[in-house]
Amino acid sequence: MRNAHRPIDLIGQTDMIRVRSLSELTGCDIWLKLESQNPGGSIKDRAALQMIQDALASGELEPGMTVVEGTAGNTGIGLAIVARSLGLNMLAVMPNDQSPEKERMISLHGAQLKTVDPVPFRDDNHFYHTARKLAESRDDYWWANQFENTSNARAHYLTTGPEIWQQTNGAVDIFVSVAGTGGTIAGNSMYLKERNPDVQVWLTDPDGSGIYSFLKQGEYVANGGSFTEGIGIMRLVENFKQARVDAAVNLPDQDLLALSRYVRDQDAIVLGSSSALNLAGALQAAALHGPGKTIVTFACDLGERSASKLYNKDYLKSRGLNLDLKPISEMLARYRDSGERVWYKPS
Ligand code: PMP
Repeated sequence: MRNAHRPIDLIGQTDMIRVRSLSELTGCDIWLKLESQNPGGSIKDRAALQMIQDALASGELEPGMTVVEGTAGNTGIGLAIVARSLGLNMLAVMPNDQSPEKERMISLHGAQLKTVDPVPFRDDNHFYHTARKLAESRDDYWWANQFENTSNARAHYLTTGPEIWQQTNGAVDIFVSVAGTGGTIAGNSMYLKERNPDVQVWLTDPDGSGIYSFLKQGEYVANGGSFTEGIGIMRLVENFKQARVDAAVNLPDQDLLALSRYVRDQDAIVLGSSSALNLAGALQAAALHGPGKTIVTFACDLGERSASKLYNKDYLKSRGLNLDLKPISEMLARYRDSGERVWYKPS
């Protein structure tokens, strides 16, 4: 328990919960670190705090100024809280196909919100370029730039990684993470490998993202799409560059759907979509490397933020997903046969 004076003093120091059902099924200890406990409900609070603190310390950001950021939502929520706490304003630019739950939260925190049509990165109207151009338009605007600003990864090197090390008493064998900017996987992998070079770092990537293909064959190629938000990317950014990845797997939305319902029913945990992908990645790693491993991954945000997509039958049907779910044992059997699906870093 902590007694704080500002919400930002409660960022980090999140609890972990052992996912009993999947741990028993695989003979591994599969832990979820509950980043949903952060004041803004997601792991991005950590990056938001570090980016703003570092910019204030360097003098490029000063009280009274406005923080501008292009975001799938969670970073915007985190920045809104940090900005307000430190005497700054916040302007978030979001693509309009993200869940309304996140748009609403940014506005509830009193931040300005600008939504733009979702377009490919090469289009000048992409949310990233829109935020950059807005920030350049005024001297009192400051662009957080979570993709290239490595204070993002530093947040995890300084806080999340050490917490995982402490919470597992140094026993973590496998660390599993999705990547959006790559800040999470970079900072944690750097810290954990510094403590123990044998810790295995797994990246788990949704359909529609090119990270898996980039690791495997050196170029960003993507197939299909995903209902996940804020993760997956089609270009190499500074934060991801720092990641030290040993293995990667690309997993389909159908698996995330099945796993989210299984964990809800067996463990009373409602996962957000990127957290479902994290746990699917943990199951994949456990299937190939268990039993007996300690595996850590994240509940990246509140499950409620995925209510309108992952937990909405009409939406799922419109994406062609099958609501008649197969038993998890079938998924585990498929995961035990890694075949070509899993990439391992050449030794
Ligand atoms: N999960 C969720 C729900 C997110 O919003 C994000 C970031 N947008 C991530 C995971 C990925 O985190 P990172 O940017 O550190 O790679």
